[in-house]
Amino acid sequence: MPVNRIFCIGKNYAAHVRELAHLGPPDDGDCVVFIKPASCVIEEGEPIVLPRGHGVVHHEAELVVSLTGGGRDIAEDEALDCVAGITLGLDLTLRELQTRLRAQGRPWELAKAFDGAAPLGDFKPFLDHDLQDIDFTCHVNGVLRQHGHTRKMLYSVARQIHLLSQTWSLEPDDVIFTGTPEGVGVLHPGDRITLSSPALGTFSWQCE
Ligand code: ZN
Repeated sequence: MPVNRIFCIGKNYAAHVRELAHLGPPDDGDCVVFIKPASCVIEEGEPIVLPRGHGVVHHEAELVVSLTGGGRDIAEDEALDCVAGITLGLDLTLRELQTRLRAQGRPWELAKAFDGAAPLGDFKPFLDHDLQDIDFTCHVNGVLRQHGHTRKMLYSVARQIHLLSQTWSLEPDDVIFTGTPEGVGVLHPGDRITLSSPALGTFSWQCE
């Protein structure tokens, strides 16, 4: 699937912000934006090769949208016109490294933008879905780890598109990872991770 740029939204579910508070400096609650290169994408069926030697890798299950484009300064009430497709994805994170980088005031790329850091399901066309009424789960080896609902987002998808378009001219095949709910946890080699949503389908990856 074509992917242009990968925008990621952080701190978008209050319960997830709280669960990370013990891992790093106190959170201020602001929306966080970072970018992963398109080369991070792993499609379903490809293995997740976990990085070695940099501490634990956490799964972050997220609703992901792709865009038709849209350009600059998109009004919030017109933003969903720019959505082309929807799916689920994983914002894989080297959590201990991220905590160290944050404490040192350094950028997050080493912890968030490594090869394979963006497993991504197949996009479904965006039709009449209510993007703030999507239920989704993340299971590891059949055990429920994350259960999210997009009504709990602090920044709606439309608001995210509006905010991103203040800084970037949005282009076709840009994608947005819209933030993760609580329940993030460690992945190990041999784990099988499955993302599922009644609206979007089921996507699985094997960790190596
Ligand atoms: Zn995330």
